[in-house]
Amino acid sequence: MTVSSNKLDIAVLPGDGIGREVMAACLELLAAVEAKTAGAPLRMNTWQAGAQFYAESGEALPNATLDACRRADAVLFGAMGWPDIRHADGTEIIPQLDLRMALDLYAGVRPIRWFPGLPRILSDERVDDIDFVLVREQTEGLFHARGRGKVVGDDEAYDTMCITRNGTARVSDFAFRLAQRRQSRRGQARVTCVDKANVFTSMAFFRKIFDEVAATHPTIGADHAYVDAMALVMVKKPWTLDVMVTENMFGDILSDLAAGLVGGMGMAPSADVGDKHALFQPAHGTAPDIAGQGKANPCAMFLSAAMMLDWLAEKHSEPQLEVRARLIEASVQMALSSGAVPIELGGTAGCAAVTRETIAALPQAM
Ligand code: ATP
Ligand code: MG
Repeated sequence: MTVSSNKLDIAVLPGDGIGREVMAACLELLAAVEAKTAGAPLRMNTWQAGAQFYAESGEALPNATLDACRRADAVLFGAMGWPDIRHADGTEIIPQLDLRMALDLYAGVRPIRWFPGLPRILSDERVDDIDFVLVREQTEGLFHARGRGKVVGDDEAYDTMCITRNGTARVSDFAFRLAQRRQSRRGQARVTCVDKANVFTSMAFFRKIFDEVAATHPTIGADHAYVDAMALVMVKKPWTLDVMVTENMFGDILSDLAAGLVGGMGMAPSADVGDKHALFQPAHGTAPDIAGQGKANPCAMFLSAAMMLDWLAEKHSEPQLEVRARLIEASVQMALSSGAVPIELGGTAGCAAVTRETIAALPQAM
């Protein structure tokens, strides 16, 4: 926080496709929320990055943008990448992965929560109790040395799974600290290590380090699950889950599955958190299939902004920011249950309608 102005600096990176659409909606909502609440104002500065910008300038993540992200109190991110715009070697433009590495955002936090009023994907009534968090390690695992896999003689191809003690310990510790905060709210908490320790040496090591960290958090429950078994539990009994911690690639796959449980990617917020920096973005991508049509569900973006406010509130001891986060969640919930069902969930509300209803719900949500 810049002491002189007492404002919090937010680097805003809308990016590409529906990233731009949901970000515009989110900035509108944040302005409306700020107008109704006390506490430190947010100074939003928009920066260029992404596939479209690469097509215009030859740079996907310019230094000025990276520096702004380093200086900012938090980064608010839309989505980046586009099918037809690629680096000269054919690889995708995904500056979010570079940002994760550059800012050492090792914990990918994906909370999955059911919002009453949404059409149910599963018929079981306990769907209402879905409230879990997937913590994905984001700096190593199968994404270690991304793009440096190799093809040997046109017959074999290799990518390397890299699990380190430090990488596993810090993300496991993060998951336990998160569980501790949930425990104070819910009266119970458990962290599940999701791995494939029965087959892979790297995964057995992941589990071993997890167990060492678990021993330092004796008041929080800890257990293990194989990733294949977890995929089944996630579909059959998702209301039994609490906090999970897992390797990068497993987390990538499970988080899309988890988003499907609560209606789709447009309902799944996320945070990429490190020890110094944090970036908040919807779990979805740029959705080229619906971009430019006003159909995107902005809820994941709104809920990611709420996660940002919570993180800032804790970091800067600014309880008013937490009030804003709860206000956003409550108004999203009211908008959804008052009939603004997003197109993604089978309703008729496009991005503008969901945004309008959410802002209209603010006074009642206070
Ligand atoms: P990435 O590679 O960045 O993970 P992706 O190729 O997995 O991206 P997404 O952009 O996440 O794809 O989209 C997956 C599907 O979900 C698409 O059919 C898309 O239209 C839909 N989708 C994603 N986000 C939203 C949203 N906010 N609202 C409505 N539909 C969405
Ligand atoms: Mg995806």
